[in-house]
Formats: sequence, structure tokens, C-alpha cells
Amino acid sequence: MEYLKIKFSNDLATVEQVNCEGDVQKFRSFSFFGNDTDKMLRGLGADIKSEFTDFIGAVVYGTQESIYSESVIEYNGEKADAKLLLADTLNVPVLSGTSAITCEELEKEFLAQTEYNIWNIEYYGYNGGKRERSKESLLTVGNGYLGVRGALVETKASDDNYPGTYVASMYNKLVTEVAGRDVINEDFVNLPNAQFITIQVDGADEYNPNKHKVIELQRELNLKSSLLKTKLIGEDNQGNKFEIITKKVVNMDNPHEYAISYSVKPLNFSKKITIISEIDGQIINYGVERYRSLSSKHLNYLTQEIEDLISTVVVETNQSKIKIAQSANLSLINGKLLNKENHIELGKTTTKLEIEANENEEYVVEKIISLFTSLETEGDVVAKAKELVSRGRTFENISTDANIGWNKLWDKVDIKVSGDMLSQKLMRIHSFHLLVSGSPNNNSLDASITARGLHGEAYRGHIFWDEIFILPFYDIHFPETAKQILMYRYKRLNAARIYAKENGYQGAMFPWQSGSDGSEQTQTVHLNPISGEWGDDYSCFQRHVSLAVAYNVWQYVNVTGDMKFMEEYGAEIILEVARFWSSKATKNEITGRYTIDKVMGPDEFHEAYPGTHQGGLKNNAYTNMMVVWLFEQVPTLLEELGSKASEIRNKVNFTDEELRKLEDVKHKLSLEIDKDGIIAQYEGYFNLKELDWDYFREKYGNVYRMDRLLKAEGKSADDYKVAKQADTLMTFYNLNKEKIDEILKDLDYSLPENYLEKNLEYYLARTSHGSTLSRVVHAQLAQMVNNEKLSWELFLDAVGSDYNDIQGGTTAEGIHTGVMAATLVVALSTYAGIDLREKLLVVNPHMPKAWDSIAFKMSFKGVEFNFEISHKTVKVASDKPTEIIVKGEILNLEANKLVEIKY
Ligand code: BGC
Repeated sequence: MEYLKIKFSNDLATVEQVNCEGDVQKFRSFSFFGNDTDKMLRGLGADIKSEFTDFIGAVVYGTQESIYSESVIEYNGEKADAKLLLADTLNVPVLSGTSAITCEELEKEFLAQTEYNIWNIEYYGYNGGKRERSKESLLTVGNGYLGVRGALVETKASDDNYPGTYVASMYNKLVTEVAGRDVINEDFVNLPNAQFITIQVDGADEYNPNKHKVIELQRELNLKSSLLKTKLIGEDNQGNKFEIITKKVVNMDNPHEYAISYSVKPLNFSKKITIISEIDGQIINYGVERYRSLSSKHLNYLTQEIEDLISTVVVETNQSKIKIAQSANLSLINGKLLNKENHIELGKTTTKLEIEANENEEYVVEKIISLFTSLETEGDVVAKAKELVSRGRTFENISTDANIGWNKLWDKVDIKVSGDMLSQKLMRIHSFHLLVSGSPNNNSLDASITARGLHGEAYRGHIFWDEIFILPFYDIHFPETAKQILMYRYKRLNAARIYAKENGYQGAMFPWQSGSDGSEQTQTVHLNPISGEWGDDYSCFQRHVSLAVAYNVWQYVNVTGDMKFMEEYGAEIILEVARFWSSKATKNEITGRYTIDKVMGPDEFHEAYPGTHQGGLKNNAYTNMMVVWLFEQVPTLLEELGSKASEIRNKVNFTDEELRKLEDVKHKLSLEIDKDGIIAQYEGYFNLKELDWDYFREKYGNVYRMDRLLKAEGKSADDYKVAKQADTLMTFYNLNKEKIDEILKDLDYSLPENYLEKNLEYYLARTSHGSTLSRVVHAQLAQMVNNEKLSWELFLDAVGSDYNDIQGGTTAEGIHTGVMAATLVVALSTYAGIDLREKLLVVNPHMPKAWDSIAFKMSFKGVEFNFEISHKTVKVASDKPTEIIVKGEILNLEANKLVEIKY
């Protein structure tokens, strides 16, 4: 066993790799660089990693000791915790000093540290700004119904903090005049802030972390129990120092309830202190900078009242008329109450508890909060909110319930990998935030999973095609929840029919961005933050969202075997979507081929043909291939539906003639393919110009939003071969290679043997990864062509998308649920090799070198499976007798009998 000793002194880190006997095997020193402590430590970690190999941990020395950490580095006047940042970059446990004498003792310490790292998000220090708001997103707690951003409870909305509160499907429309026209936006409404608590020491100002000192801050979100714990040493404008320990938890077991425990300890004074608690409805939507010039006041104030220690604020969204009631019950757990004051303003309640406080004694207040809305709750929401906080529940009760609720969920969803601490931790973070965004609590809600979770206002909480990345997670763990998400679409099938009709089509055309009623919510104008100009937004031409809806229905039924859902709802969606595409396909009588125009593929950089001002492109390869796939499914589905088929066809009046057209289109849709077998993203794509990537990289560094950079330079991405994300290649994410070979054959195109490799190489070289969804899709494709190294690199980037905020600030506006789910799905599909698309469960592992094993549970067609897969073996048990296919061989499983297959 070897490990690193990292010694800090002045602006230098010296690193020794030592063995058990303490012999130095290698030695190097590194100077500090740059002016940002976080970045400096990460850079240092990367440099160490490139120089040293085969170490199982690191111990740091020479750091400063502070109250909450022993490994603080102060550099350029900024503090950071070396232990945390180095652990993330070196991907090993890092200790701040050690008392271990023997190797075994040290190994034990490393193991304990690893165990902590893979279940916790920890931050040290306070910077404010976007970086802080992105931490708040990652520290959000919730339960699928409710999300409460992880802001310090003492903060209000500003450029430094954003204590947002969100409820699934809480939308409201407002009109804004933009460039002379009225623009309507349906927003995801930020609800009254009930988490606010702060303190005021007698004679001083109310403590505000942005105005006064934050001497120390340490935050820890435990993913297992969902408890967010914040420890803060603050100092107000009069030099009063105090420690505040805040604990926040949202109940997973009762979605309407959350709780805060707030403990204050004077450190250098004995004076009266006042604990101030609010429910603050005097808020607007302020979470996304580029939306700030748009109308943002969504709430009407209905009532506000305080009865003893229970405050209640009731508001209503001003257009959608949803009533929201929040109550908070404040109780002083420790301390003698001297005085209590209540203030009521429109939309806001404030309670002030005055306590006589002594130096070094702890005073604790608990705030139990309830939230009900007329969206999901029948009857009197105000009475319900008051009643829930009047039950005498304590913080302890609620965190125990939350813990029990989360344990049940973790038991189903946890993916355990051994051999790689970082990806293990990041995958746990992804599972956690997915469950915050959508959980079995959604089973009774009319909601889908928003692109940015219940964590922020970006994309206005809208529902996109991202469901295609998200749903498999729910299909295999929570079929009931997956079904409800599909029901969100079914309930909006009529709106999709109307949308198709309005555009001259038949069937159902789902909107690119969906909100409350299923009508199109994509903006027609979009602000380019780089140029500051508003431009047309054609992204609604991404009609492929309807293919995603149909695919999701098909995949849900394939995974769950829920034919009842197919009969009652699913088939209707599939037929109406097929009918829509059929009505969009027009035949060119000369070539005999069909064309689908006025569409965009997933690559949002290409909205229109060069020089034209009409959105939409012709024969997008992804769309056309998925249409063929869909049209292939229809006859199979009708056959599977047996006697029910005619009933369903009658219901939507799906004629034989229509079926014949599907059959015809399926063989004659157009694709453009060059002599090397590159499938053009759309017709005419090959005429576009190549981009000078070096120029942009040199000038801007980060080129991921190449569309905006080009616009700012007076150019348009429409003119260039540059993609935001996988487009043609996305087909290979959805369907396996054999299926696509069949589709191409059906269409009568023949391509060279290695066309997938060629297409991957071609498009990757022209992709800027402007969407977090890009890398994870390419990770799967790279593995499909056996490029393990590339696949792993892309996967690692994707799995760090939000944790490392790789887009430089977007995490502040909410997490990215699509990539979070997709990384978990790819871990199971690409690496563990679980294929959910066949009739039987297929297992064909391609384990990354970094992992020794992967273990997980999942359900398929009502059978619960328990897998543990290593580089050489597949261990599997099922709760019922069943058949699966492992490495091409059929395997009969008996109930509850573990089978081990060597491969
Ligand atoms: C991506 C889309 C995605 C949307 C919402 C965009 O940046 O390009 O594919 O649907 O974000 O997540």
C-alpha cells in the first residue's frame, strides 16, 4: 500500500509518495498558481494526479486548523478546505493529518473517509455569487412534490443567494412586452420563502451573511438521510460572534412537511438575542438572470395571520389561480422567552423571539413548516396547512420519518460501485436529486419531471423530451411513478391533437416545452446573454419530442409488462403520434421517397437553413429513423393488443389506409448519406461551412455555447457544421445497432460495415457539448464502438456536470435532471450491460476499468432482480422464476436463488 503525504508551506505543496514502511518512493513539489483558491487546489490535484499513480489515499499537513476543518488553505485572502477539493480531484480519500501508526490503521482511516465521501456533499467556506447559488442547487432538499433550495436560511434572494421553494407543476403565465410585442411566458413559480430565520443581537443589526462576516462555514448534505446541516460562525456589525447550527429536512414520508432546527450559541457576549422567523411571500421569480427583464410577479396575497406561534401565509398565483397555503410553527426548545413580537404585512409574517442569552450556551428554535396547494389537495388547503403544524411534531420526528422514507427509496435505487470513489459519490448525488425532483410522492400528482428539477427556475420548470433520459430510472425502480409521468402526457393528448391541427397536421403533436395545459410553451424570442440581444427562437420545431413520448410509452410497457396501461392509454398515444408523423411525410413523386420537413433535431444550434428566416429543416436523420422505428412498432403493437386492437383503433378511428401509409413511408423516408457512410444530420447539412474551432477556443476558452459565440460575432450556427449535442447519433442511444441496421435496410440504404465508428468520429469532432445531455450520449456510443477510454472520459465529464458546474454557472439555476438520470441509466445499460429494449432482460457487461464491480436492484416485467457484476462474473438473483439472457445465453432463474455466471 502506498499513499501521498502532501505538505503545504507558503505558496508551495510538496508531495511524497510513501509506502507502509514510510520510505519515500517519489517526491515532487508544486507551486501555487492563479488567484482563486478553489481553482488552485483543483489544479494542484490535477497536477499531482498526472505525476503520481497507484496511491490509495493522501494525508495533508501544514494546513491551517479552523473550527470546522483541519485542512484549511488561505491563499490570496480566500480560504478553502484542501481535504475536500483534493479528494474530488485525486479521487482518493484525503485525511487532514493522521494518528495511525500501522499501515492497517491508516487503511482503516482511509476506508472510513471513503465511506463518508460517498454519502455526503460537503462544502467549506462562503463566497456568494453564482458559485454559491450553484451550491444551493446541489444542497436542495425535497421529496418530488416539494423542493427547498439549499440556501443559508438567513439569506434572501439576491445575486448571491436564492432561497427558492418549488412545488411540482406550479405554473403561472405572465405577459411581458418585448421589442414591441407581447410575449407570454409560463413560469415555474417561486413560492413564499418559509425557510427564513436569522438572529439579531441586542443593539446590533439583524445578521445577514452578505453584509456581515461569515468567519467559518461548513455544510454537509447527507444523501442517505437527506439531512442538510450547516455550521456557521458569524459576526455582526457590533462584533458579536456566534455559532449557528442549522438543520433542514424535507419529509419524504409526508410530502407536505418540512422542518428546520436553528441553534445559536453566543461566543463572545452575554446579551439579549432575538430570533427572527418569517414566511415571506413578498418575492418574485428572480432565479435566472436572463429572465429578469420579464414579468416576474406571480403571486396575489390572500391572507396572512399569526396565532400564537403559528403563522400562515396564503397566496394565489395571479393567472392560474392556484392557492398556496404555508404554515410555520415556531417553538423555542432551549432558552427562556423574554418577549414575543409578531408583525403582519401583506403576504408576509414575522415572528421575533427574544431570549436572554449567555456566552457559550446554546439556544434552539424549531420551525415546522407545512405546504398545501389547491393543485393537488382538495378542500380547505389553509385548514390543512394549519392542522399539520399543530400536531406537535418535532424536528426529530420529521427527520426520522424522512430518514425512513429515504431508506426505502435507497434500498431500491442505490447503485454500488467499487473501485472508484468519485463516480460512486456522483451517482449517489444523481439518484438523490432525481428523487428530490420526482419520487413515489408523485404517484398522485399530475406532473412530470422538469428539466431542472425542483431546484431552480431555468427552463421555467417545463417538461421537454428529457423524459427519454429520465424515465428508464423510474421504469425500473418505480413503475407507478413512471406511469404517472406518462399520464401527464396522456392527459395532454387532446392539447397535442389541437396543436397538430393548428399547424395543419393530423394526430398528436406534443409541444417542445410543456407546462400546465400541454400547449406549446417554447418562447418565440430568446435573449443571448453574450450579445444582450433578443432573437427569434425556433426551438419549438423540435417535433421529435413526440417521438420521445411514444418511445417512452413503448419502453415503459416493455420494462413493466403493463399491457393494461397500453390498452387504456399508451396505444392511443402511439397511434396518434404515428398519425401525426404520417401526416407530416410528403411523397416526392419523382424520387418516390418521402420527406419530413419543418423539423429540428436534438441539436438546437441548427434551427433553419442559411440565410432563411423560417424555422425548420428537412429530413432530419434522427427524426426520420425514429419515425421508421415507430412505424415498425405499430403493426407489432396491434398484434400484441389482440382483440383490444380494433376497439382502440375505433376509438381514434385509425383506418387501414392509414396503416398502409405507415408501411409505405417506413420503406421510403429520405436520408442523405455520403460516400463514406456519414448520415447527414439533415438534408443539405453537407453544404454547411466547417468551423475554425481553434480560433474560438483561443478567443473564448469555453466554447460549449458556440451558437451564442457565433451570434455575438455576427454569424449564425445555422451556417456551420457545429452541433450542440448528439443528433444523428442520438438514434444509437435509443435503439441498438442491429435495430438501426434494420431501419437502414428497410429504407434501402447500404452503408459501410464501420459506419457507426465513422459517424461517431465525424460528429464528435463537430460537437461543442453545449448541452449536458451530449457527453453522456456519446459515452454510450463510444462504448458501442469499443472505445472504452473515450467512453469513460465522456462519462466522467457527464457525471460531474452539475457537481462541477461544467457549464460555468448553469447549475445555479437548477440541476440538470436529464444528465443525472442518463448517467445512472448508462451505468446500468452501457457498463453493466442491461438492455431494457428486448422482450427478455439482456445482460452484456462492458465494465469500465475504473470499477471492480457494480451492484444494483431493478425490476423488469414484475420480477425484482439483484445484480452484482464484475469484470469476470455476473451474479444474479430474482424474486420469481424467470428467464434472462446473459452474454447471449438463455439463463433460467429460480426464485431467490443466486446464480453466478463467469464470462
Ligand atoms: C438541450 C435540450 C434539452 C433542454 C432541457 C437544452 O439545452 O439542448 O436537448 O431538452 O436543454 O434540458
